[in-house]
Amino acid sequence: MTGHSAGGGDVDESPLLARIRNEIREDGPITVARYMDICLGDPHFGYYRTRDPIGACGDFVTAPEISQMFGELVGLWCAHVWTTMGSPANFKLVELGPGRGTLMGDLLRASRAVPGFIDAANIHLVEISPVLRAQQAETLQPSGARPSWHDRLEDVPPGPTLLIANEFFDALPIRQIERTQGGWHERLIGLGAVPGNADENTGTSGLAFGLSPDPLTGALPDAANVEVTPGTVVEFCAPAVHISSLVASRLARDNGAALVIDYGYRGPATGDTFQALGGHRYVSVLERPGNVDLTAHVDFSNLARPAAAAGARVYGPIEQGSFLDAVGIGLRARRLKANATAKQASDIDAAVERLTAPQQMGQLFKVLAMTAPGLPVPPPFGDPQT
Ligand code: SAH
Repeated sequence: MTGHSAGGGDVDESPLLARIRNEIREDGPITVARYMDICLGDPHFGYYRTRDPIGACGDFVTAPEISQMFGELVGLWCAHVWTTMGSPANFKLVELGPGRGTLMGDLLRASRAVPGFIDAANIHLVEISPVLRAQQAETLQPSGARPSWHDRLEDVPPGPTLLIANEFFDALPIRQIERTQGGWHERLIGLGAVPGNADENTGTSGLAFGLSPDPLTGALPDAANVEVTPGTVVEFCAPAVHISSLVASRLARDNGAALVIDYGYRGPATGDTFQALGGHRYVSVLERPGNVDLTAHVDFSNLARPAAAAGARVYGPIEQGSFLDAVGIGLRARRLKANATAKQASDIDAAVERLTAPQQMGQLFKVLAMTAPGLPVPPPFGDPQT
């Protein structure tokens, strides 16, 4: 693929698409990671910079938006782990990518049950979206919390930490490499033909997938070190490795624990999981760049390995359904239903089903915990990974 053949014709050119096409014209085809980075994070037109994508009117719904029980149970988990840390009088309660602030709001309300926890917590929210920052401030206002916002985890001051991240890692840019007869090649996005022309990957954006002509040299991801058939795709998320090691070294140094929840798998594994959601539907990843949510499934071994290497104990991942059952979603649902109308009770049952049933979110979504090496095994996890 040359990437320099101007698509021409009837291309629906939003400012972000124009930016992408210019970059490709000037520098050649871009990696999938670069494409995700521009589409999601462009300071002016990036998906997360310009809108609130979550909820019925947005593009996708997340677990905390399905039911308050999710954030409440995560809150009780945090408060319990805090007691095992010796109930420090000051700690950082950090959330990566807090969305609408719903999880944090529910967490803070439920964890009032554990005396001293809320007073000890300094809340730090790592969020790139100005729109979502404003929404988080509004959601958390009734709690009386006074969060600090940061662009990056590096900017959160040191100290004992409890960190949570729900559907954060799936939004980080991945690279994709593809096996050919001649070795592994980077998957690239360039300018292809306009609709009706030869390349069926191209839609109205005029963008198309291709492969770098040069085979990759140097270290490959684990999944690329086995024999596979040509056409097989392997994904790799470098920012996830970086952030996971940062979290782990922070916990090892300052004490604390982290809970990471996301959809994904325990690698090494092969397969193309790059996907786009617009208006609650799967759409083409190359259509309407900047206007649809782009994600990839999280490879939990890509979080676990660097975290263990950075000095944390790593537990799981376990399935979200097992996690929520074990931390008491059944009991919590019964309590809520005790004071509910018939309609509310059936909504609560439906939410439990959606969050825990294997064919819904219960199995695809997984939960990984990390702790400082001196802390006991956090419930409901078993032995740490070695
Ligand atoms: N945790 C929330 C939102 C998930 S959507 C929930 O469960 O509802 C992903 C979140 O991560 C959004 O808040 C988005 O703005 C934020 N985000 C995406 N990429 C980011 C990055 N590189 N740095 C910080 N926040 C990011």
